[in-house]
Amino acid sequence: MEDYIKDEELQGRLSKSSSSQSGREKFKHFLHTVVLTRDKTPHQEQLFQISQLHETIPIIRIVLLCLAGLILITWPTDYLYFEEDMINIYFIWRLVMLLSITVLLGLMQFSRWVQNNIYNFTFVGVLGAIFFTAYLFGQEKDLSTPWFYIIFILPVLTVFFNSKILWRTIATIIVPIIYAAGFLLFNPQNLDYEYLGLTFNLVLSSIIISILLGHIIFYLNRQSFFQQRQLKQQQEEIQKLADYDQLTGIFNRREFENRAKSEFLRSLRYNCSLSLLMMDLDHFKNINDTHGHFIGDTVLKKLGESIEACSRATDIAGRYGGEEFSMILPETSSQGAIQMAERLRKRLEKIPFENEAGEKFHVTCSIGIAEWNPEIKSYEQLIKKADEALYLAKAAGRNQIKLAES
Ligand code: GH3
Ligand code: MG
Ligand code: MG
Repeated sequence: MEDYIKDEELQGRLSKSSSSQSGREKFKHFLHTVVLTRDKTPHQEQLFQISQLHETIPIIRIVLLCLAGLILITWPTDYLYFEEDMINIYFIWRLVMLLSITVLLGLMQFSRWVQNNIYNFTFVGVLGAIFFTAYLFGQEKDLSTPWFYIIFILPVLTVFFNSKILWRTIATIIVPIIYAAGFLLFNPQNLDYEYLGLTFNLVLSSIIISILLGHIIFYLNRQSFFQQRQLKQQQEEIQKLADYDQLTGIFNRREFENRAKSEFLRSLRYNCSLSLLMMDLDHFKNINDTHGHFIGDTVLKKLGESIEACSRATDIAGRYGGEEFSMILPETSSQGAIQMAERLRKRLEKIPFENEAGEKFHVTCSIGIAEWNPEIKSYEQLIKKADEALYLAKAAGRNQIKLAES
């Protein structure tokens, strides 16, 4: 049962990370501070491996993007004659391409917005590049090389837009047309019959070739998309296993403490009320001994359900260990906490349990409550107070609630 991390220093590091970060950041922090450096539980090990796989898929895409960039920069090497105007055209071409790609990669690194819209940026960027290339090369009346390059770049584009068939088709068809437009419209000398026919042929053939290539790559790549979705599901499942107690369905001790500590810090900072409940089943050892562990587990499960049913959405409940449970009630004074605890105590007391032989029995619990006040400077102090109150409730005869003195 004790699947939380025992090491106090690690507990500290974990709770520090959880107070103000989003789930994703917290998870990353968790991976880096705990999983990478310490012994892992099987769940942590699984989470770690899945997150590694997850990270590699976007890396493959970035590598593809860089490769496309490299091709873009280095492609027309066979044209580098030492004729002045030729050098000028290629020089301008390379410089503009290099600059655009550097700017795009740089922005991708630093801007969230660019990162989120990277596919659209890439598409618009490629269209711009194609148009610019067609305009430049059209001046030289040179068709052939850029067409090969378009055929090469199109499958990559179709894979970029593979989630929607419409976008895939548009990406595939629009690029040769844009090139033809740039080639013909901005260079009127190309608008003769010979070139029109040739251009038309090239537009059609590159659309056909790129559709073929694009779809082959799409189907090869599709697996990684399904894989990615599956990984995400697995990650959610394992995250659930890591955060929740399997028997009762509420938080395990580690996750409970993470959340409870951040709630505690919030109260400390903003001076808002907060109550902590410690709950322990009465004579639970007897129940196990008389009715067996299986029935004991059923009782624990029912208690988990009752806690869920009696608490608010903002309350945090966790299985603290064995048959001990704990709850944090944010923005709740001791009066509110007593009401809640009383509701829970009465509910549990009334639940009819039955053992395998058909004998009926009931279960009760004792609850200790501690309300936070500015004198309580640490979460551990608050827990200790609730624990003492619980001890008083036990000593006073069980099946009752005691409030710690403030
Ligand atoms: P008290 O009223 O003083 O709390 O008496 P108690 O018998 O409940 O006290 P104690 O804390 O000594 O007993 C806890 C028992 O809870 C011991 C163990 O048999 C049982 N227990 C702990 N975890 C589990 C569990 O996961 N399943 C089951 N069935 N029993 C558990
Ligand atoms: Mg007990
Ligand atoms: Mg106990």
